[in-house]
Amino acid sequence: MAKKNNQKYAKKYDIIIVGGGPVGLSMAACLAKFGADLKIAICDRKGFEVPTDSRASALALGVTKIFETLGIWNEISKQANPIKAMEITDSGESDISRPKFLQFEGEVAPNSPFAYMVPNVATIGVLQKTIKGKVDMISPIDIVGLKTSANSGSLILANGDELEANLIIAADGARSNLRQFAGIKTTGHDYGQSGIVTTIEHEKPHNDTAYEHFRPNGPFASLPLRGNQSSLVWTEKTKNANLYKNMEYSELEPIIENVMGHNLGKVKIVEQVQVFPFKLPIAKDFVANRLALIGDAAHAVHPISGQGMNLGLKDVAALAQVLINAKRLGLDIGAFDVLENYQSWRRFDVALMALATDNLVHLFSNDIAPVRALRDIGLGIVDKMPFVKKQLIRHAAAISPLSGKVPDLLLGRAL
Ligand SMILES: Cc1cc2nc3c(=O)[nH]c(=O)nc-3n(C[C@H](O)[C@H](O)[C@H](O)COP(=O)(O)OP(=O)(O)OC[C@H]3O[C@@H](n4cnc5c(N)ncnc54)[C@H](O)[C@@H]3O)c2cc1C
Repeated sequence: MAKKNNQKYAKKYDIIIVGGGPVGLSMAACLAKFGADLKIAICDRKGFEVPTDSRASALALGVTKIFETLGIWNEISKQANPIKAMEITDSGESDISRPKFLQFEGEVAPNSPFAYMVPNVATIGVLQKTIKGKVDMISPIDIVGLKTSANSGSLILANGDELEANLIIAADGARSNLRQFAGIKTTGHDYGQSGIVTTIEHEKPHNDTAYEHFRPNGPFASLPLRGNQSSLVWTEKTKNANLYKNMEYSELEPIIENVMGHNLGKVKIVEQVQVFPFKLPIAKDFVANRLALIGDAAHAVHPISGQGMNLGLKDVAALAQVLINAKRLGLDIGAFDVLENYQSWRRFDVALMALATDNLVHLFSNDIAPVRALRDIGLGIVDKMPFVKKQLIRHAAAISPLSGKVPDLLLGRAL
């Protein structure tokens, strides 16, 4: 072990994961559990202390199976709330009434809701605890470059050190430096929208229902947390979002009640209000020499359909399966043809979801009368088609994909 700047790290790893967000940590947990003697490190530019992310994520049922297979869902689920129903409404800027256009019963099977709302801090906290002692956790770290050869990849650190591995996995988020170091371009655009995110306590019960109000400036979602609390993701034009963020909470709370249509009664903000700009960067390649991209580093989609982390965790399930199969067959886990199996497995699912999400954003973020009329007719028709609704809910649960083979971990099968 080399020891510099109070950091302990080995001369060479089998795999180094860059980025200790929910996706990178899940990758580390899967490899630690099923990768037998693989030598793994995970590094982050921030410390691995208790995270402060105030967001909560809707995790699809299939994706929670990954955590179940890792043996940690029981602990995470203590802080999760099921989503048993979903109501979608559509209103114009000046509309007073808020007709219900689409309603889903959220169970894919008896007592199996299609998704759970989980605070990000719960997922991250449990994952950090799970990998402690099994994976080298290196932080804070300042990576200034990436060097690859035929047999390995090296992270170049600001202090001149190098960290070498057979394979480097980039899970360093939407603005991934590793992606840039590898010269991988992205496609996509800036929505000019931002999400105002916070947690509210409300007077009336949410009945485990997720509400999504489509409004001209973007959707407003309230998603059920434990007790009488909900997580808000309120999409607005970026300049409005920053205005709302800087308001006194006593001024903002009645505005939230109005936008929500008073369906949950009086509300109180109980978490810091944060603003996240929404962009759509999709990497043109998910792999390069000795490098694989996962999670937001590979694709960051608009949260209108709550699929970003779900897509990232599906990457984890697919890449873990590819790597562990390769290792059992005695193959080089960082070889390009092994990594290409991962890329071809995930690319189509990601492209479909990015396209569907992008279309939803454009279809619903406007107030043009004919477009509104068409989408409302569309939603009304879907609402009257139980079979279509069932298929949509199964897809949202990540147990019945529109494309490709489902990774074993999503089916609750160990690797
Ligand atoms: C408002 C909002 C609501 C959302 N709601 C949902 C939802 O309901 N359901 C859902 O599935 N998804 C949702 N998402 C998407 C979800 O939050 C992301 O997809 C998810 O956080 C991506 O995780 P990640 O680990 O890939 O990246 P991140 O969470 O961005 O983590 C990246 C990590 O890498 C580290 N890092 C970055 N650069 C470096 C570097 N150079 N060196 C070392 N470390 C580095 C960072 O410190 C961080 O810890 C939402 C997103 C937003 C913005």
